[in-house]
Order: sequence, then structure tokens, then C-alpha cells
Amino acid sequence: MKQVYLDNNATTRMAPEVLEAMQPFFTELWGNPSSMHVFGGQVRKHIERARAQVAALIGADPSEIVFTSGGTESDNMAIRGAAEAAGPAAQLLTTRVEHPAVLEPCRLLKERGWSLVEMAVDNLGRLQLADLQEALSLGRTVASIMWANNETGVVFPMARIAELVKAAGGILHTDAVQAVGKAPIDVRQVPVDLLTLSGHKLHAPKGVGALYIRRGTRLPPLLLGGHQEAGRRAGTENVPYIVALGLACELARQQLEDGMRQMAQLRDQLQAGILQACPDVSINGDLEQRLPNTLNISFQYIEGESILYHLSDYGIAAASGSACSSGALEPSHVIRAMGVPFMAVHGSIRFSLSRYTTAAEIAYVLEHLPPIIARLRAISPFSASNAAVPEP
Ligand code: PLP
Repeated sequence: MKQVYLDNNATTRMAPEVLEAMQPFFTELWGNPSSMHVFGGQVRKHIERARAQVAALIGADPSEIVFTSGGTESDNMAIRGAAEAAGPAAQLLTTRVEHPAVLEPCRLLKERGWSLVEMAVDNLGRLQLADLQEALSLGRTVASIMWANNETGVVFPMARIAELVKAAGGILHTDAVQAVGKAPIDVRQVPVDLLTLSGHKLHAPKGVGALYIRRGTRLPPLLLGGHQEAGRRAGTENVPYIVALGLACELARQQLEDGMRQMAQLRDQLQAGILQACPDVSINGDLEQRLPNTLNISFQYIEGESILYHLSDYGIAAASGSACSSGALEPSHVIRAMGVPFMAVHGSIRFSLSRYTTAAEIAYVLEHLPPIIARLRAISPFSASNAAVPEP
């Protein structure tokens, strides 16, 4: 069966070049990079090359990059470390639409004595800068504000956010897991202190990521042990995965502009095709400030899960805006925070493309999705038109 993967905000396929680049580090180049002998030395230089490749993608200096096990670890390390360095007199500031890898450590710190402000978003998923300014005026702040949202693709105005946080003397971490490789990022232009990225969202394997730590930022380590990563993250380096992340970042940098243009074009085709073929749909999130690969769309009167189920009959993979919680379908906290009406929340679907997505795949989805929607609407107890259908 044909397979069309449109769930790239969940994870991406590995780039073939990346897989190939990893192989020698499982076979010939298996030394411990901390070893003084040749086995170690010949591996160490590949880690440093990868560090430079990651740094180049975001405009950082290689010494400001620390390799981690992924986005979750980088988020935890940044938030818990920055809060500890600032002390409990500092307030924590975040948004209601962050990934749990940010929200959970913030909430844990709240239990341990830090005050926490979770800023709201409007119905397009946008942050109100007036709220940020007000929160910053309350005291010394450690802020964690995502660059782009994983569910809606909404991009926050990070340059302005960073300017405001820095002007107030605060520390700013950004979870840029969804933005890196899909949006231009340059930490020389946007003065964030800490930035999280994750390999598996940009065609490297799962289980590797990095934290950018601006030079001079105080950040006690999360993991203690050996002296790896200049004492900032203990543990023998995951060399094949680090090499993979480095190459994936280099490919992302080379293909950023073309990839963004191509993804946006195909995403817009998908969006226009759905709007044309299906009545009663609405798009979730700000259309102006959105990642080029993401379309979050609500189909009234039907459940997202049913749509996904029927799409999978055609080999099409996407994601829904609800998650199963205690046996019931619960709308995601992101969609809920945006105040999307009940009926639209339950029928929300996220399509997320990658630079590997083709026009033929989008055409295939547009061929099969509208009839699925029409069929599901025909049997939906919520559909307005069904209220008028006489009993058989
Ligand atoms: N932050 C965001 C915005 C994400 O989308 C994800 C993954 O879905 C993460 C953090 C966690 O990253 P990882 O899966 O590498 O731990």
C-alpha cells in the first residue's frame, strides 16, 4: 500500500546521508572519545566537527553547544539549571502552550518554591506581548518560551520576546525543537540565552539533541559524573548519534531556504484543496506566523480519531488534536488554551510535512480525504444536516 507520512512534527525519517555517516562509528570508530590513545583521538575530532555543524545552523559558537539525549533533556537542563542558578527569589515565566518537557519541570519547580506564571495565548495561539511585559515587571525572571508550537506551528516573535526579557534583566530559554531546520534561527540576532533542539525532528535519529548555552550563562549541570562536554553534561558521548545530528544540521542549513519554500507551497496546496472540497472546516493558529510545514485544521461534527483511522486505510499518517486520557478523548492543552470551540477541538487534525514530502503525496491526500470527511459527516450524530434526515 502507498504510504504518505504527514506527521513530521512527531518525528522525521532519517536522511539517508545521515544513516550512512553514522555507520563507521558502530564498526571501526568505536573508541571512547575521552581516551588518550588513538582510538579515542580519532573519534573526538568527529564530535567537534558535529559541534561546529550544529553551531553553524543557529549562528552559535561551537563552544556554546552541549550534546544531550534530546529535546526533553535539553529543556529540563535549561529550566532546572537556570532556575537553580537564579535561586527561588526569581520567578519562572512560561506559556500555556509549551510542550510537557517545559511545562512539567516548571510545575515541579513551582512545588519547590519558585513562583510560576503561565501566560495565556489568544484564539490564534499568539502570545500577547503586553502580558509578557507585565509579567517581566513583577521581578527577576527565568523565562522559557517556545520558538514554534508543535501542534499549530504558530511561531512566536522571538526577537521581540528576547529583547523584552533581556531589557528586564531576565534569562531566556527557548524550546526551538520544532523551529530548527524549518525556520531561520540566528542567536547572534536573537539574544536568547538557552536554546533547545532535537535530532529526530530534523532527520537525525531519536535520542540525541543539543542545548545552546550562550557564553557567560550560569547553568549548573543536570547530570553529574565525568568531565564530558566541558563538565556541563556528564556521560560518555553517544558518538554515532552526535555525528548524525551534526550532519543533519548541516543538511538542514544547506536546504533551509529551498525546503521552507517547498514545504510551504505543498502545505498551502493541501490547505487550499481541503478548504475547497470540504465545508465546515477551520484552520487553527495564526496563518501569518506559522511554520511552513504545519497545517492544523478542524473538521466540524466529526472526531479527529475517526478521520485518522480512515486515512490510515489509505496509508496516510497524520495526528489529531486529542489524546486518550483515562479512557476518554481529551483535547490537547494547546488547542484548549486557544479557546477553540468544543466541536472544532474534537475534529482537529495536524498535517506536518517535511522536505521529503512530494506534490504527488499531497495530491493523493486530496483525492482521499474529502470523501472520508463526507462519509463521516453523513453518519455523524452532530451534523446539522443529519438532524433533518428522516428515520429509515
Ligand atoms: N519540545 C517540543 C516542542 C517538541 O515537539 C518535542 C517533541 O515532540 C520535545 C520538546 C521533546 O523532544 P524529544 O522527543 O527529543 O525529547
